[in-house]
Amino acid sequence: MWENADYGPFDEENDDKKKIDVGIAVPCRLCENAFRRLRLTMRYCMECKRGFCEGEHGNFAPKTRARCVQCGPHA
Ligand SMILES: [Zn+2]
Ligand SMILES: [Zn+2]
Repeated sequence: MWENADYGPFDEENDDKKKIDVGIAVPCRLCENAFRRLRLTMRYCMECKRGFCEGEHGNFAPKTRARCVQCGPHA
């Protein structure tokens, strides 16, 4: 299902936005932190640049306005 995926931890130097922009799926960082669960995603938060799984941990807004629940999906 995921041809390219990076299972590594969040990296400030090469954040999830950069990875996803070049077609690499990353783990939802909220699932990872809260549940120790791996769920790959191609969505990232514009605020913290971390991957999030759509619906559960972030909104469905267009890419440029996407936010994870930690940064406030309704802000
Ligand atoms: Zn998640
Ligand atoms: Zn965020």
